[in-house]
Amino acid sequence: MSDGDPTAGGEQKGLAQASRGELARRDSDATPAKRASWLPAPGQGFGVTFAQMFRKVTTEEYPEVPKVTKPRYHGRHVLNRHPDGLEKCVGCELCAWACPADAIYVEGGDNSEDERYSPGERYGRVYQINYLRCIFCGLCIEACPTRSLTMSNDFELADDNRRDLIYTKEQLMAPLLPGMEAPPHPMRLGDEKDYYVRTPGGTAPPVDRSAGSREDQPVPGGRA
Ligand code: SF4
Ligand code: SF4
Repeated sequence: MSDGDPTAGGEQKGLAQASRGELARRDSDATPAKRASWLPAPGQGFGVTFAQMFRKVTTEEYPEVPKVTKPRYHGRHVLNRHPDGLEKCVGCELCAWACPADAIYVEGGDNSEDERYSPGERYGRVYQINYLRCIFCGLCIEACPTRSLTMSNDFELADDNRRDLIYTKEQLMAPLLPGMEAPPHPMRLGDEKDYYVRTPGGTAPPVDRSAGSREDQPVPGGRA
């Protein structure tokens, strides 16, 4: 068959018509699908609804019953303290540089012997996290060299205005636990190195998991 063959188009049309005929013949020979149930279709439909009434209810009764998240859930951040109450944050801004959403703002300040907030030379004078930007990826806590910044399980971060979703240092600081003293005050645990060496026998403070916090992670303003 060549391109110039006037009969070529007619042959192709004939083949197409033959295949359509073949398909129609196969359709007419096909056996109709058998219904799996003797119930009529509406009965089968209502049967699904009826059976559902006896299954375990999966409705979350939130907020009456607070949801307990997985232990490693990434929620609201916490700025942690040393056991004497001094802040772990040294105002290095590494968390802000690591943040892909540009959600963290840090301004460092200088400690002095008369006014000391952290064991290092500097402390986080201004610290803000913008929860309108944060995507809870956790890169900031990976970047923090002092384990000052960690994430709790608290997920209740909704609000109706932009300003209240920019959390300040005061909102993010971990609460003072028994035995802690509010800074500024001198280093009570030795020199600067002693603060960053974990004691093997150190115990985590007890924390209510239903308040949205991990065992080692008290949440500022956590739910009672
Ligand atoms: S969790 Fe991610 S997005 Fe949120 S502040 Fe940290 S680095 Fe930025
Ligand atoms: S939270 Fe950590 S990384 Fe961020 S400024 Fe403080 S010490 Fe540096």
